[in-house]
Amino acid sequence: MDIRTRLETDLKVAVGRLRQMGGAVALEELLGPGGEHWFADEVDEIQVNEQREIGFATRELLVDRVNRITAALERLDEGEYGRCVECGEMIAPARLRAMPEVLTCVRCQDRIEREGRRVGALEEVEVGIDEE
Ligand SMILES: [Zn+2]
Repeated sequence: MDIRTRLETDLKVAVGRLRQMGGAVALEELLGPGGEHWFADEVDEIQVNEQREIGFATRELLVDRVNRITAALERLDEGEYGRCVECGEMIAPARLRAMPEVLTCVRCQDRIEREGRRVGALEEVEVGIDEE
């Protein structure tokens, strides 16, 4: 399977899960306590929130994943795939095989995790490494 097929497959799976999850959350809002106040903030939310928080955490991860995969596909189109968005070095092939959507090399990933930030500032970084 080539890298594009793999990324597109991963993307479909992640989007599919997100859709399912979106349905689940909507349903919860529909049937939760004070069901008629679907969008009210003040309903007795404590119990629902506990469940939701788990849902949101997973959802956020999935959204992250979708964003990363989409970015990776764009980079594939641009011929930039496999290049670290942080330092511009090539990412190790083994790392790409394990996680085709990664945008950074191991070293930068470590640093980013230590700094507690996310890889999302693609535009900023790309200005720096764009040599056209
Ligand atoms: Zn790097």
